[in-house]
Parts: sequence; structure tokens; C-alpha cells
Amino acid sequence: MSSVSLANMPDLVKPWPVAPRPFFEEAFGSWLGRVATCYQISVSMLWETSTGLDMPNLGKAGWILFPPVSASPLDQLSKLARMSEGRLAAIQTPPEWMADQRYLVYCFRCLVLNDVDVSAPRWKREWLDPEAEYCTAHHSLPETVPASIFGKAANFGAALRAISRYRTPRFPRNGWLR
Ligand SMILES: [Zn+2]
Repeated sequence: MSSVSLANMPDLVKPWPVAPRPFFEEAFGSWLGRVATCYQISVSMLWETSTGLDMPNLGKAGWILFPPVSASPLDQLSKLARMSEGRLAAIQTPPEWMADQRYLVYCFRCLVLNDVDVSAPRWKREWLDPEAEYCTAHHSLPETVPASIFGKAANFGAALRAISRYRTPRFPRNGWLR
């Protein structure tokens, strides 16, 4: 993904010079994380500079499990990203999913092999469903990552690097997670 220098940092008035489109199956936090990666800033900095609001209270899973956003900041973000408001409204986290989980499930194949754009890994919204048990695309059991990976990562790029480190430990794990 190309990055944009800080001199082009978004502000509250001008649309962002570059804004990745959200994918239809993507989690809102994933999209926000990808925009932040594009500008090499943290999700909280992106949120605060773009909406003029403080970050909402986040749980262990940080910004990936982003609480449902109300109409006014959603409108602001849609203008900055030059998108219809409905596009971002459609990918909001359902309020009933806002439960703290120590581990998040996901499908690694789906994460890195985005059918629509192979150069753009994204986090599917369905993986945030606390009841998600298998990958609906591959009908396979999902992998897990500690939710804290997202809690600690500044943006989506940083989270992807942490996930990749977690999957390839320097010493083999003894299967204590399973
Ligand atoms: Zn899958």
C-alpha cells in the first residue's frame, strides 16, 4: 500500500487525499485501521483529527471492535473519504457484538487473500461476532489471535505485523492454546 507523507495529513475540512474504500464484508475498525496505515498514524490520531471527538472507550480488542458510530461523526468521515454515508453505516459493529473477548477468531486465508483486492488484507466483520465458529467462505475452523494484538497496535499495518509474528513464533509452541 502506498503511504502519504505527514504533510498531507487530513484535517477537519478537506477530504483526505487518499482513502481506501471499505469492503462490503469489512469491519468498520478494519477500514479505519487501513486509513490510519495509509497515513502512517494511529487510529486514535486519525479519529481525533478527523472527527474532532475523543476516542470512544475501547475494550481489549481496541479499535478493531469499534463501537457503533453515531450519525454526525459518520457523516464527517464519509465526507473526508468522499463516500456515501450509507457505505460506512453498513459496516458498523452491531451493538450486541460489543463484548470483551480475550481471543478473536479469524480465517488466515480470508485475511490475506481478499478476493476483491489481493493487495488489501482486511478484517471481516463476521469474525467479530462472539458466536463466530467457522469460516463461512472456507468452511474451516478459524485461527485465533489475542485481542490485545489490536489493543496494542497503532493501526492495521501494525496489527498485521503482530499477527504474523504471533503465527510464526521463534520457538515452537507446545499447543497450550488448543
Ligand atoms: Zn476463510
